[in-house]
Amino acid sequence: MVCLRANNYIKIMNKKYFIFFGPPGSGKGTQAEMLDKRLKLVYISTGSLLRKEVHSGSALGRKVRPILKDGRLVGNKIIEKIVKDRLEKRDAFAGAIFDGFPRNKEQQEFLKRLLKELHFDEKKDKIYAIQVDVGDKEVKHRITRRRSCVCGQVYHLDYNPPKIEGKCNKCGKALFTREDDKADVIEHRLKIYHKRSQPLIKYWHDLGKLITVNGERKPKAIQISLVKKLKKLKAI
Ligand code: ADP
Repeated sequence: MVCLRANNYIKIMNKKYFIFFGPPGSGKGTQAEMLDKRLKLVYISTGSLLRKEVHSGSALGRKVRPILKDGRLVGNKIIEKIVKDRLEKRDAFAGAIFDGFPRNKEQQEFLKRLLKELHFDEKKDKIYAIQVDVGDKEVKHRITRRRSCVCGQVYHLDYNPPKIEGKCNKCGKALFTREDDKADVIEHRLKIYHKRSQPLIKYWHDLGKLITVNGERKPKAIQISLVKKLKKLKAI
């Protein structure tokens, strides 16, 4: 890895960025974290960062809580600040895995500008979008069985249950059902996903940088096929 100092940033060759797309409950967060464990990049889940703010009771948390509860999108300025602050930290210079960002055209344009600032090199560095494909019917069925922890860990009572019922494997805190994991809110989140994220997926597809995996399988099987596809493309 060669490092050069340029405009206050350390330039690291062969940066890698992966953007996960998938409807709510698709398991994109689980896949993103599994891939992150393998690649040791920085995992950035905007949803999880926002939920941390809500649980901490910070000013930002109080502001975004009703938005998250209704399944609406948080304002771009807030999201952009969260992502920029995280991406500019030293440990993120080798790349990152995005989960839940970008979520609309403006955020995507912002990401492109930010990567330019961070000296993303089209020839040497890599960026891929990963779509975890799950139908709406399956999403609605799954989401009622999802349990979350304040630390960001997510469980599924059938596919990925906690070792001790109701407790997080990682930090031991009590698991809960997200406020936005209710049937009517899920419906709304799905609508937003199809309207706002599908055009972004098409963008990466047209660039030849989209990898689609069938998300209606067990997490390990999905990860295996994802890694295979990434290796075939020499993306990892
Ligand atoms: P899911 O993909 O299951 O909807 P996330 O954890 O990614 O879950 O997001 C939860 C909520 O956090 C969203 O419904 C939205 O309110 C907010 N959120 C997360 N990421 C973004 C983003 N990039 N832009 C706007 N709002 C966001």
